[in-house]
Amino acid sequence: MNTIFDFIKKLPDVSAAKDAGVYKKSINNIGDLWVFMVNEGEKDVLIATGKGSEIFSGEKINCPECAKSYIKAPLNHENAIALRKTFAFTAPIPVLREKRSMGVGDRLGIAAHGHIRCFNDYDAYPILAQQSIRELNLTNRTYENVLDCASYAVFRDGFKRGFGADGDHLKKPEDIEYALSLGFTMITLDCSDHIRNDVNDMSFAQLKTESSLPKDIAQRYLDKTFEIEDDKIKFTEEELLRIQLIYSKAVDYTVSIWEKYLSDGSSNVDFEISIDETPTPTTPLQHFYVANELTLRGVKFATVAPRFCGEFQKGVDYIGDLVQFEKELKIHAAIARKFGYKLSIHSGSDKFSTFKLIGKYTQGKFHVKTAGTNWLEAMRAVAKVDPKLYREIHKFALSMFEQAKKFYHVTTDLSKIADVDTLNDNELVELFNQNDARQLIHITYGFILTEKNADGSFRFKDKLYKMWREGEEVYAEMLHKHIGRHLELLYSGFEK
Ligand code: ZN
Repeated sequence: MNTIFDFIKKLPDVSAAKDAGVYKKSINNIGDLWVFMVNEGEKDVLIATGKGSEIFSGEKINCPECAKSYIKAPLNHENAIALRKTFAFTAPIPVLREKRSMGVGDRLGIAAHGHIRCFNDYDAYPILAQQSIRELNLTNRTYENVLDCASYAVFRDGFKRGFGADGDHLKKPEDIEYALSLGFTMITLDCSDHIRNDVNDMSFAQLKTESSLPKDIAQRYLDKTFEIEDDKIKFTEEELLRIQLIYSKAVDYTVSIWEKYLSDGSSNVDFEISIDETPTPTTPLQHFYVANELTLRGVKFATVAPRFCGEFQKGVDYIGDLVQFEKELKIHAAIARKFGYKLSIHSGSDKFSTFKLIGKYTQGKFHVKTAGTNWLEAMRAVAKVDPKLYREIHKFALSMFEQAKKFYHVTTDLSKIADVDTLNDNELVELFNQNDARQLIHITYGFILTEKNADGSFRFKDKLYKMWREGEEVYAEMLHKHIGRHLELLYSGFEK
Protein backbone atom coordinates (compact mmCIF):
# COMPACT_ATOMS: atom_id res chain seq x y z
CA MET A 1 0.00 0.00 0.00
CA ASN A 2 1.23 3.45 -0.92
CA THR A 3 1.48 6.14 1.63
CA ILE A 4 -0.71 9.20 1.78
CA PHE A 5 2.32 11.21 0.68
CA ASP A 6 2.65 9.20 -2.54
CA PHE A 7 -0.91 10.24 -3.27
CA ILE A 8 -0.47 13.88 -2.24
CA LYS A 9 2.72 14.31 -4.27
CA LYS A 10 0.88 13.37 -7.48
CA LEU A 11 -2.11 15.73 -6.98
CA PRO A 12 -4.07 16.84 -8.98
CA ASP A 13 -3.54 13.41 -10.52
CA VAL A 14 -5.69 11.12 -8.34
CA SER A 15 -4.83 7.81 -9.95
CA ALA A 16 -3.04 6.62 -6.81
CA ALA A 17 -6.16 7.04 -4.65
CA LYS A 18 -7.08 3.39 -4.34
CA ASP A 19 -3.59 2.27 -3.38
CA ALA A 20 -3.44 4.86 -0.62
CA GLY A 21 -6.87 3.89 0.77
CA VAL A 22 -8.40 7.17 -0.36
CA TYR A 23 -12.13 7.23 -1.15
CA LYS A 24 -11.99 8.57 -4.68
CA LYS A 25 -15.33 10.39 -4.59
CA SER A 26 -14.24 12.24 -1.46
CA ILE A 27 -11.38 14.08 -3.12
CA ASN A 28 -12.14 17.81 -3.12
CA ASN A 29 -10.06 20.89 -3.45
CA ILE A 30 -10.37 24.64 -3.21
CA GLY A 31 -7.31 26.04 -4.89
CA ASP A 32 -4.34 24.65 -3.08
CA LEU A 33 -6.34 23.09 -0.24
CA TRP A 34 -7.05 19.39 -0.75
CA VAL A 35 -9.34 17.44 1.53
CA PHE A 36 -10.29 13.77 1.22
CA MET A 37 -11.26 10.77 3.29
CA VAL A 38 -9.16 7.70 3.93
CA ASN A 39 -10.24 4.23 5.01
CA GLU A 40 -8.09 3.16 7.95
CA GLY A 41 -9.82 -0.17 8.39
CA GLU A 42 -11.65 0.21 11.66
CA LYS A 43 -12.48 3.82 10.91
CA ASP A 44 -12.31 6.63 8.38
CA VAL A 45 -10.31 9.83 8.79
CA LEU A 46 -10.14 13.14 6.99
CA ILE A 47 -6.91 14.27 5.45
CA ALA A 48 -6.32 17.94 4.71
CA THR A 49 -3.26 19.29 2.97
CA GLY A 50 -2.17 22.59 1.50
CA LYS A 51 -2.98 26.18 2.24
CA GLY A 52 -5.89 26.50 4.70
CA SER A 53 -5.70 22.95 6.03
CA GLU A 54 -5.30 24.34 9.58
CA ILE A 55 -9.07 24.78 9.71
CA PHE A 56 -9.11 21.05 10.53
CA SER A 57 -7.70 19.85 13.80
CA GLY A 58 -5.72 16.69 14.31
CA GLU A 59 -2.27 15.27 14.10
CA LYS A 60 0.08 17.13 11.75
CA ILE A 61 2.24 14.76 9.76
CA ASN A 62 5.35 15.91 7.88
CA CYS A 63 6.82 14.07 4.95
CA PRO A 64 10.25 12.68 5.87
CA GLU A 65 11.65 13.28 2.39
CA CYS A 66 9.58 16.10 0.87
CA ALA A 67 8.36 19.50 1.99
CA LYS A 68 4.72 18.35 2.19
CA SER A 69 2.59 17.87 5.27
CA TYR A 70 -0.99 17.03 6.07
CA ILE A 71 -3.42 17.07 8.94
CA LYS A 72 -5.02 13.80 9.89
CA ALA A 73 -8.35 14.86 11.29
CA PRO A 74 -10.66 12.51 13.20
CA LEU A 75 -14.35 12.53 12.26
CA ASN A 76 -15.45 14.52 15.29
CA HIS A 77 -17.87 17.40 15.70
CA GLU A 78 -15.24 20.12 15.47
CA ASN A 79 -13.98 18.83 12.13
CA ALA A 80 -17.52 18.38 10.84
CA ILE A 81 -18.09 22.09 11.47
CA ALA A 82 -14.89 22.86 9.58
CA LEU A 83 -15.96 20.58 6.73
CA ARG A 84 -19.36 22.27 6.43
CA LYS A 85 -17.65 25.66 6.37
CA THR A 86 -15.23 24.57 3.68
CA PHE A 87 -17.52 22.56 1.38
CA ALA A 88 -21.07 23.85 1.21
CA PHE A 89 -22.50 20.58 -0.08
CA THR A 90 -21.73 18.93 3.27
CA ALA A 91 -24.07 21.33 5.09
CA PRO A 92 -27.82 20.71 5.02
CA ILE A 93 -30.12 22.88 2.92
CA PRO A 94 -33.91 23.25 2.95
CA VAL A 95 -35.08 20.51 0.59
CA LEU A 96 -38.62 19.96 1.80
CA ARG A 97 -39.73 22.75 -0.52
CA GLU A 98 -38.57 20.71 -3.52
CA LYS A 99 -41.11 18.64 -5.47
CA ARG A 100 -40.22 15.35 -3.90
CA SER A 101 -38.37 14.54 -0.74
CA MET A 102 -37.86 11.61 1.53
CA GLY A 103 -36.74 11.39 5.11
CA VAL A 104 -34.45 8.49 5.85
CA GLY A 105 -33.86 8.60 9.58
CA ASP A 106 -30.63 6.86 10.45
CA ARG A 107 -30.62 5.93 14.11
CA LEU A 108 -27.15 4.44 13.86
CA GLY A 109 -25.28 7.09 11.90
CA ILE A 110 -24.14 4.55 9.29
CA ALA A 111 -27.02 4.27 6.84
CA ALA A 112 -26.35 7.26 4.60
CA HIS A 113 -23.99 5.38 2.26
CA GLY A 114 -26.83 3.04 1.27
CA HIS A 115 -29.31 5.91 1.12
CA ILE A 116 -27.11 7.97 -1.14
CA ARG A 117 -27.11 5.12 -3.67
CA CYS A 118 -30.93 5.40 -3.78
CA PHE A 119 -30.91 9.16 -4.28
CA ASN A 120 -28.41 8.81 -7.08
CA ASP A 121 -31.10 6.73 -8.83
CA TYR A 122 -34.09 9.03 -8.11
CA ASP A 123 -34.48 12.81 -8.16
CA ALA A 124 -36.22 13.09 -4.77
CA TYR A 125 -34.16 15.01 -2.22
CA PRO A 126 -33.07 13.15 0.88
CA ILE A 127 -33.37 14.28 4.46
CA LEU A 128 -30.40 12.25 5.63
CA ALA A 129 -30.37 13.69 9.15
CA GLN A 130 -33.75 13.10 10.74
CA GLN A 131 -34.36 12.16 14.34
CA SER A 132 -37.00 12.81 16.91
CA ILE A 133 -36.13 13.63 20.50
CA ARG A 134 -37.56 10.25 21.46
CA GLU A 135 -35.08 8.55 19.13
CA LEU A 136 -32.18 10.65 20.42
CA ASN A 137 -33.03 9.68 23.98
CA LEU A 138 -33.48 6.01 23.20
CA THR A 139 -30.15 5.81 21.38
CA ASN A 140 -28.15 8.23 23.54
CA ARG A 141 -27.25 10.34 20.54
CA THR A 142 -27.18 14.09 19.98
CA TYR A 143 -28.30 16.24 17.07
CA GLU A 144 -24.67 17.23 16.60
CA ASN A 145 -23.78 13.63 15.95
CA VAL A 146 -26.79 12.97 13.71
CA LEU A 147 -25.88 15.89 11.48
CA ASP A 148 -22.14 15.16 11.50
CA CYS A 149 -22.70 11.59 10.31
CA ALA A 150 -24.71 12.90 7.35
CA SER A 151 -22.09 15.52 6.48
CA TYR A 152 -19.26 12.98 6.53
CA ALA A 153 -21.26 10.51 4.44
CA VAL A 154 -22.09 12.97 1.65
CA PHE A 155 -18.47 14.06 1.64
CA ARG A 156 -17.14 10.52 1.39
CA ASP A 157 -19.59 9.57 -1.35
CA GLY A 158 -19.40 12.84 -3.27
CA PHE A 159 -23.15 13.47 -3.03
CA LYS A 160 -23.42 17.13 -3.98
CA ARG A 161 -27.07 17.59 -4.89
CA GLY A 162 -28.03 18.64 -1.38
CA PHE A 163 -29.65 17.03 1.65
CA GLY A 164 -31.84 18.21 4.50
CA ALA A 165 -31.72 17.91 8.28
CA ASP A 166 -35.01 17.47 10.10
CA GLY A 167 -35.59 18.13 13.77
CA ASP A 168 -38.36 15.57 13.74
CA HIS A 169 -41.42 15.55 15.96
CA LEU A 170 -40.31 18.46 18.09
CA LYS A 171 -42.76 19.47 20.75
CA LYS A 172 -40.97 21.97 22.95
CA PRO A 173 -39.51 25.39 22.20
CA GLU A 174 -36.13 24.39 23.64
CA ASP A 175 -35.90 21.43 21.26
CA ILE A 176 -36.63 23.71 18.32
CA GLU A 177 -33.93 26.12 19.51
CA TYR A 178 -31.51 23.21 19.79
CA ALA A 179 -32.12 22.03 16.22
CA LEU A 180 -32.02 25.55 14.79
CA SER A 181 -28.81 26.40 16.61
CA LEU A 182 -27.06 23.56 14.77
CA GLY A 183 -28.29 24.60 11.35
CA PHE A 184 -31.05 22.04 10.90
CA THR A 185 -33.05 23.00 7.82
CA MET A 186 -36.41 21.51 8.69
CA ILE A 187 -38.53 21.73 11.79
CA THR A 188 -41.33 19.23 12.25
CA LEU A 189 -43.62 20.63 14.87
CA ASP A 190 -45.51 17.90 16.67
CA CYS A 191 -48.77 19.45 17.83
CA SER A 192 -50.11 16.36 19.54
CA ASP A 193 -49.88 17.77 23.07
CA HIS A 194 -52.28 20.52 21.97
CA ILE A 195 -54.79 18.33 20.19
CA ARG A 196 -57.78 17.26 22.25
CA ASN A 197 -58.59 13.59 21.98
CA ASP A 198 -61.51 13.56 24.39
CA VAL A 199 -64.15 15.23 22.25
CA ASN A 200 -64.38 12.80 19.33
CA ASP A 201 -67.19 10.82 20.86
CA MET A 202 -69.13 13.68 22.43
CA SER A 203 -72.66 14.37 21.33
CA PHE A 204 -73.58 17.77 19.95
CA ALA A 205 -75.22 18.63 23.28
CA GLN A 206 -72.05 17.71 25.17
CA LEU A 207 -69.92 19.72 22.76
CA LYS A 208 -72.09 22.74 23.40
CA THR A 209 -71.61 22.51 27.12
CA GLU A 210 -67.83 22.48 26.52
CA SER A 211 -67.69 25.61 24.42
CA SER A 212 -69.45 27.68 21.82
CA LEU A 213 -68.26 28.68 18.39
CA PRO A 214 -66.33 31.93 18.19
CA LYS A 215 -68.10 34.34 15.89
CA ASP A 216 -65.31 34.67 13.34
CA ILE A 217 -65.00 30.89 13.02
CA ALA A 218 -68.75 30.51 12.50
CA GLN A 219 -68.71 33.22 9.84
CA ARG A 220 -65.76 31.70 8.08
CA TYR A 221 -67.08 28.18 7.77
CA LEU A 222 -70.81 27.80 8.35
CA ASP A 223 -73.22 27.81 5.40
CA LYS A 224 -70.33 27.76 2.96
CA THR A 225 -69.18 25.23 0.40
CA PHE A 226 -65.48 24.88 -0.20
CA GLU A 227 -64.40 23.50 -3.53
CA ILE A 228 -61.36 21.29 -3.42
CA GLU A 229 -60.77 20.24 -7.01
CA ASP A 230 -63.54 17.68 -7.77
CA ASP A 231 -64.73 17.57 -4.20
CA LYS A 232 -66.86 19.93 -2.20
CA ILE A 233 -66.71 20.14 1.55
CA LYS A 234 -69.16 21.69 3.99
CA PHE A 235 -69.08 22.07 7.74
CA THR A 236 -72.11 21.42 9.89
CA GLU A 237 -72.27 23.34 13.15
CA GLU A 238 -71.62 20.17 15.09
CA GLU A 239 -68.58 19.20 13.04
CA LEU A 240 -67.19 22.69 13.17
CA LEU A 241 -67.57 22.92 16.92
CA ARG A 242 -65.88 19.56 17.35
CA ILE A 243 -63.01 20.52 15.08
CA GLN A 244 -62.63 23.84 16.85
CA LEU A 245 -62.36 22.03 20.17
CA ILE A 246 -59.89 19.46 18.87
CA TYR A 247 -57.55 21.73 16.93
CA SER A 248 -57.82 25.37 18.01
CA LYS A 249 -55.09 25.05 20.65
CA ALA A 250 -52.81 23.27 18.18
CA VAL A 251 -53.32 26.11 15.72
CA ASP A 252 -52.53 28.69 18.41
CA TYR A 253 -49.41 26.80 19.41
CA THR A 254 -48.21 26.51 15.83
CA VAL A 255 -48.73 30.23 15.30
CA SER A 256 -46.74 31.00 18.45
CA ILE A 257 -43.82 28.80 17.34
CA TRP A 258 -43.91 30.28 13.85
CA GLU A 259 -43.84 33.82 15.18
CA LYS A 260 -41.17 33.18 17.75
CA TYR A 261 -38.66 31.27 15.62
CA LEU A 262 -39.43 31.31 11.94
CA SER A 263 -41.45 34.27 10.74
CA ASP A 264 -38.55 36.71 10.58
CA GLY A 265 -36.75 34.47 8.09
CA SER A 266 -33.46 34.55 10.00
CA SER A 267 -33.21 30.77 9.80
CA ASN A 268 -33.57 29.34 6.35
CA VAL A 269 -35.70 26.34 7.25
CA ASP A 270 -38.78 24.49 6.08
CA PHE A 271 -41.66 24.12 8.46
CA GLU A 272 -43.71 20.95 8.75
CA ILE A 273 -46.91 20.75 10.77
CA SER A 274 -47.49 17.30 12.19
CA ILE A 275 -50.93 16.39 13.45
CA ASP A 276 -50.49 12.67 12.90
CA GLU A 277 -49.76 11.43 16.40
CA THR A 278 -53.38 11.16 17.47
CA PRO A 279 -55.60 8.17 18.15
CA THR A 280 -58.15 9.08 15.47
CA PRO A 281 -57.59 9.87 11.79
CA THR A 282 -57.54 13.42 10.51
CA THR A 283 -60.67 13.91 8.42
CA PRO A 284 -60.45 16.03 5.26
CA LEU A 285 -62.60 18.67 7.02
CA GLN A 286 -60.15 18.81 9.91
CA HIS A 287 -57.18 19.02 7.57
CA PHE A 288 -58.83 21.87 5.67
CA TYR A 289 -59.60 23.75 8.87
CA VAL A 290 -56.03 23.50 10.17
CA ALA A 291 -54.50 24.55 6.85
CA ASN A 292 -56.95 27.40 6.39
CA GLU A 293 -56.56 28.77 9.91
CA LEU A 294 -52.77 28.64 9.77
CA THR A 295 -52.72 30.30 6.38
CA LEU A 296 -55.05 33.08 7.50
CA ARG A 297 -52.80 33.72 10.47
CA GLY A 298 -49.76 34.09 8.26
CA VAL A 299 -47.94 30.82 8.92
CA LYS A 300 -45.86 29.59 5.99
CA PHE A 301 -45.34 25.86 5.92
CA ALA A 302 -43.99 23.38 3.44
CA THR A 303 -45.86 20.28 4.54
CA VAL A 304 -48.64 18.95 6.72
CA ALA A 305 -48.63 15.41 8.07
CA PRO A 306 -52.19 14.26 8.72
CA ARG A 307 -53.05 11.02 10.44
CA PHE A 308 -54.48 8.84 7.69
CA CYS A 309 -57.30 6.37 8.12
CA GLY A 310 -56.28 2.80 8.82
CA GLU A 311 -53.01 2.15 10.57
CA PHE A 312 -49.50 3.23 9.72
CA GLN A 313 -47.76 1.05 12.22
CA LYS A 314 -43.99 1.07 12.44
CA GLY A 315 -42.01 -0.96 9.95
CA VAL A 316 -44.86 -2.96 8.41
CA ASP A 317 -47.23 -2.46 5.46
CA TYR A 318 -50.44 -0.47 5.69
CA ILE A 319 -53.18 -2.05 7.79
CA GLY A 320 -56.71 -1.02 6.84
CA ASP A 321 -59.13 -0.40 4.02
CA LEU A 322 -57.17 0.68 0.96
CA VAL A 323 -60.28 1.84 -0.89
CA GLN A 324 -61.12 4.28 1.88
CA PHE A 325 -57.47 5.28 2.15
CA GLU A 326 -57.41 6.10 -1.55
CA LYS A 327 -60.60 8.15 -1.32
CA GLU A 328 -59.33 10.23 1.59
CA LEU A 329 -55.79 10.54 0.25
CA LYS A 330 -57.22 12.09 -2.90
CA ILE A 331 -58.90 14.87 -0.89
CA HIS A 332 -55.94 15.35 1.47
CA ALA A 333 -53.64 15.77 -1.52
CA ALA A 334 -56.03 18.21 -3.16
CA ILE A 335 -56.25 20.29 0.03
CA ALA A 336 -52.47 20.48 0.16
CA ARG A 337 -52.36 21.62 -3.48
CA LYS A 338 -55.02 24.25 -2.86
CA PHE A 339 -52.90 25.88 -0.18
CA GLY A 340 -49.61 25.26 -1.95
CA TYR A 341 -47.86 22.79 0.31
CA LYS A 342 -47.01 19.08 0.12
CA LEU A 343 -48.49 16.17 1.98
CA SER A 344 -46.11 14.53 4.37
CA ILE A 345 -46.51 10.83 5.01
CA HIS A 346 -45.20 9.80 8.41
CA SER A 347 -44.31 6.28 9.47
CA GLY A 348 -43.76 5.66 5.78
CA SER A 349 -41.45 2.68 6.29
CA ASP A 350 -42.64 -0.32 4.31
CA LYS A 351 -46.09 1.01 3.37
CA PHE A 352 -45.69 -0.67 -0.01
CA SER A 353 -49.38 -1.05 -0.79
CA THR A 354 -49.90 2.73 -0.49
CA PHE A 355 -46.90 4.14 -2.35
CA LYS A 356 -48.26 4.03 -5.88
CA LEU A 357 -51.42 5.79 -4.68
CA ILE A 358 -49.35 8.41 -2.86
CA GLY A 359 -47.31 9.07 -5.99
CA LYS A 360 -50.48 9.29 -8.05
CA TYR A 361 -52.67 11.54 -5.93
CA THR A 362 -49.90 13.90 -4.89
CA GLN A 363 -48.92 14.10 -8.57
CA GLY A 364 -45.38 13.33 -7.57
CA LYS A 365 -45.14 16.05 -4.92
CA PHE A 366 -44.69 14.43 -1.56
CA HIS A 367 -42.58 14.02 1.51
CA VAL A 368 -42.33 10.50 2.91
CA LYS A 369 -40.62 9.78 6.20
CA THR A 370 -38.96 6.51 7.02
CA ALA A 371 -36.79 5.68 9.99
CA GLY A 372 -37.33 2.31 11.60
CA THR A 373 -36.93 0.35 8.42
CA ASN A 374 -33.33 1.56 8.09
CA TRP A 375 -32.61 0.13 11.51
CA LEU A 376 -34.40 -3.10 10.60
CA GLU A 377 -32.22 -3.50 7.52
CA ALA A 378 -29.17 -3.07 9.76
CA MET A 379 -30.45 -5.91 11.91
CA ARG A 380 -31.23 -7.98 8.84
CA ALA A 381 -27.56 -7.53 7.97
CA VAL A 382 -26.65 -8.85 11.43
CA ALA A 383 -28.83 -11.92 10.94
CA LYS A 384 -27.08 -12.54 7.64
CA VAL A 385 -23.50 -11.86 8.69
CA ASP A 386 -23.46 -13.00 12.34
CA PRO A 387 -26.34 -15.43 13.11
CA LYS A 388 -25.03 -16.22 16.59
CA LEU A 389 -25.03 -12.58 17.64
CA TYR A 390 -28.45 -12.10 16.07
CA ARG A 391 -29.96 -14.94 18.09
CA GLU A 392 -28.66 -13.47 21.31
CA ILE A 393 -30.06 -10.02 20.48
CA HIS A 394 -33.39 -11.47 19.40
CA LYS A 395 -33.84 -13.21 22.75
CA PHE A 396 -32.88 -10.05 24.57
CA ALA A 397 -35.44 -8.09 22.52
CA LEU A 398 -38.14 -10.56 23.51
CA SER A 399 -37.32 -9.96 27.17
CA MET A 400 -37.59 -6.18 26.69
CA PHE A 401 -40.68 -6.11 24.54
CA GLU A 402 -43.20 -5.21 27.24
CA GLN A 403 -41.15 -2.19 28.29
CA ALA A 404 -40.52 -1.08 24.72
CA LYS A 405 -44.24 -1.14 23.94
CA LYS A 406 -44.70 1.93 26.11
CA PHE A 407 -42.97 4.04 23.46
CA TYR A 408 -44.68 2.78 20.32
CA HIS A 409 -48.12 1.79 19.16
CA VAL A 410 -47.94 -1.73 17.71
CA THR A 411 -50.16 -4.82 17.66
CA THR A 412 -47.35 -7.35 17.73
CA ASP A 413 -48.22 -10.97 18.51
CA LEU A 414 -45.06 -12.52 19.95
CA SER A 415 -46.51 -16.04 19.70
CA LYS A 416 -46.33 -15.78 15.91
CA ILE A 417 -42.55 -15.35 15.91
CA ALA A 418 -40.59 -18.54 15.31
CA ASP A 419 -38.19 -19.65 18.04
CA VAL A 420 -34.75 -18.57 16.85
CA ASP A 421 -33.16 -21.74 18.23
CA THR A 422 -35.24 -23.87 15.85
CA LEU A 423 -34.28 -21.83 12.79
CA ASN A 424 -31.13 -22.54 10.84
CA ASP A 425 -28.76 -19.69 10.04
CA ASN A 426 -30.21 -19.07 6.59
CA GLU A 427 -33.74 -18.90 7.91
CA LEU A 428 -32.93 -16.13 10.39
CA VAL A 429 -32.97 -13.50 7.65
CA GLU A 430 -36.52 -14.58 6.82
CA LEU A 431 -37.67 -13.24 10.19
CA PHE A 432 -37.42 -9.79 8.63
CA ASN A 433 -40.24 -10.70 6.25
CA GLN A 434 -42.59 -11.43 9.13
CA ASN A 435 -44.45 -8.48 10.65
CA ASP A 436 -44.40 -9.54 14.29
CA ALA A 437 -40.67 -10.24 14.22
CA ARG A 438 -40.08 -6.92 12.45
CA GLN A 439 -41.99 -5.01 15.08
CA LEU A 440 -40.24 -6.81 17.90
CA ILE A 441 -36.85 -5.65 16.63
CA HIS A 442 -38.20 -2.33 15.45
CA ILE A 443 -39.32 -1.01 18.80
CA THR A 444 -36.58 -2.48 21.00
CA TYR A 445 -33.71 -0.62 19.32
CA GLY A 446 -33.12 1.67 22.28
CA PHE A 447 -32.72 -1.24 24.66
CA ILE A 448 -30.49 -3.19 22.28
CA LEU A 449 -28.16 -0.24 21.70
CA THR A 450 -27.83 0.87 25.30
CA GLU A 451 -27.83 -2.40 27.28
CA LYS A 452 -24.69 -2.73 29.41
CA ASN A 453 -22.74 -5.56 31.00
CA ALA A 454 -21.96 -5.60 34.71
CA ASP A 455 -18.57 -3.99 34.02
CA GLY A 456 -20.19 -1.00 32.32
CA SER A 457 -19.27 -2.00 28.78
CA PHE A 458 -22.00 -2.23 26.13
CA ARG A 459 -23.52 -5.65 25.79
CA PHE A 460 -24.24 -5.39 22.04
CA LYS A 461 -23.49 -1.91 20.77
CA ASP A 462 -19.75 -2.17 20.16
CA LYS A 463 -19.99 -5.63 18.62
CA LEU A 464 -22.76 -4.40 16.37
CA TYR A 465 -20.86 -1.35 15.15
CA LYS A 466 -17.80 -3.47 14.47
CA MET A 467 -19.91 -5.87 12.44
CA TRP A 468 -21.61 -3.05 10.55
CA ARG A 469 -18.24 -1.54 9.74
CA GLU A 470 -16.93 -4.82 8.39
CA GLY A 471 -20.21 -5.57 6.63
CA GLU A 472 -20.66 -2.04 5.33
CA GLU A 473 -21.20 -3.14 1.75
CA VAL A 474 -23.82 -5.73 2.74
CA TYR A 475 -25.81 -3.11 4.66
CA ALA A 476 -25.46 -0.44 1.98
CA GLU A 477 -26.78 -2.80 -0.69
CA MET A 478 -29.65 -3.97 1.52
CA LEU A 479 -30.71 -0.35 1.98
CA HIS A 480 -30.20 0.45 -1.67
CA LYS A 481 -32.60 -2.32 -2.56
CA HIS A 482 -35.10 -1.76 0.24
CA ILE A 483 -35.44 2.04 0.17
CA GLY A 484 -35.10 1.79 -3.61
CA ARG A 485 -38.27 -0.30 -3.60
CA HIS A 486 -40.07 2.46 -1.68
CA LEU A 487 -39.00 5.00 -4.28
CA GLU A 488 -39.73 2.77 -7.25
CA LEU A 489 -43.33 2.30 -6.12
CA LEU A 490 -43.80 5.97 -5.27
CA TYR A 491 -42.52 6.92 -8.74
CA SER A 492 -44.75 4.34 -10.44
CA GLY A 493 -47.78 6.48 -9.52
CA PHE A 494 -47.00 9.57 -11.57
CA GLU A 495 -45.46 10.79 -14.80
CA LYS A 496 -42.19 12.55 -14.19
ZN1 ZN B 1 -45.39 11.49 12.80
